[in-house]
Amino acid sequence: MSALLAHFTARRESILKLARELVERETKSREEARLNEIARFVADQLREIGGNIELTPQPGYGTNLRARFDFDHDPREPRVLVIGHLDTVWPIGTLERLPFRVTTEGRAHGPGVFDMKSAIAVAIEALRTIVAERLATKRPVTLLLTCDEEIGSKTSRPLVEEEAKNAAAALVLEPPITGGVVKTGRKGIGEFTIRALGRAAHAGLDPSKGVNAIVELAHQTLRLAALNDFDQGITVSVGLISGGTAMNVIPAEATAKVDVRYWTNEDGERIVKTIRALDPVLSDARIEVTGGINRPPMPRSERNVALYQHARTLAAELGFDLKDAAVGGGSDGNFTAAMGVATLDGLGVDGAGAHAEHEHIIVDDIPRRAALLTRLLQTA
Ligand SMILES: [Zn+2]
Repeated sequence: MSALLAHFTARRESILKLARELVERETKSREEARLNEIARFVADQLREIGGNIELTPQPGYGTNLRARFDFDHDPREPRVLVIGHLDTVWPIGTLERLPFRVTTEGRAHGPGVFDMKSAIAVAIEALRTIVAERLATKRPVTLLLTCDEEIGSKTSRPLVEEEAKNAAAALVLEPPITGGVVKTGRKGIGEFTIRALGRAAHAGLDPSKGVNAIVELAHQTLRLAALNDFDQGITVSVGLISGGTAMNVIPAEATAKVDVRYWTNEDGERIVKTIRALDPVLSDARIEVTGGINRPPMPRSERNVALYQHARTLAAELGFDLKDAAVGGGSDGNFTAAMGVATLDGLGVDGAGAHAEHEHIIVDDIPRRAALLTRLLQTA
């Protein structure tokens, strides 16, 4: 076994304990006070290791945390940028129902443990190890932990992009695909709201005077569904729909929320254009379209693949095979990749069930991921 793997195997329980402390701080997106508190808690840990910390409170959201470790480098040199998020999708109180627990099969359960509190614990421990063991690094390192990734990174995107400008590589701490498979490509994501406007009327007395906004929106929903092209990886899904005021009133208004995913900028632009140009089917109805691209695609570029191949070599030295895949979900890696930074995502601890009741990590994978991340921080 490599010395580094032995080191993290010996530290496994303390990493798990830190993961537990993070999970037991419930931090659903927009829980401002809780997200401020967890940022301070993590900042204290990173400061203790010697990180130069900057906390940026975001009213209504929480706090974004940036920790710089220059090691022995000029701080202006291109950096390795490590990105994670402190928020989860889990409502406060979930912990009572799904407490942190380790099963006899070696799985650690808990809300946010896989996405991505265990990965944050691993990143802190990797940095602690580099400092404590005086390990050499090729570059200075920045760890960026944001407070709003799960709701589209509204406040943190500028920070991610600012850091990406001077980054030689971006390492994203999102969970891997089950089996420890890292992510070298991600689809782009668009979000739209389609509002259909008709005219209210009594459904019994004056039905012909009304213009049914729900019928109009139903026409648009079918048009949107027809834009799906699974072979090209283009998906257009009306995921939420609402409208009407009462059963006996012809509805004057109905709204749909639409999720769009695609692999290439050309596909994205074409779909955006098509959706923006939707016109009403019923006479006297109107359509309002808002929204657009939220995350640009992260193509499985040569740059990303080269970084993955490097990680794969490091993993092989540590005694395991690292596989990669391109996926439909988005992350802050989409932003760094779109800026031309070599990006490797899915570097979190192996497990399953992100955003699902059975969310868990495999405890035995902690030393492997910690050793791999440490080697990447040293050499990327
Ligand atoms: Zn995540």
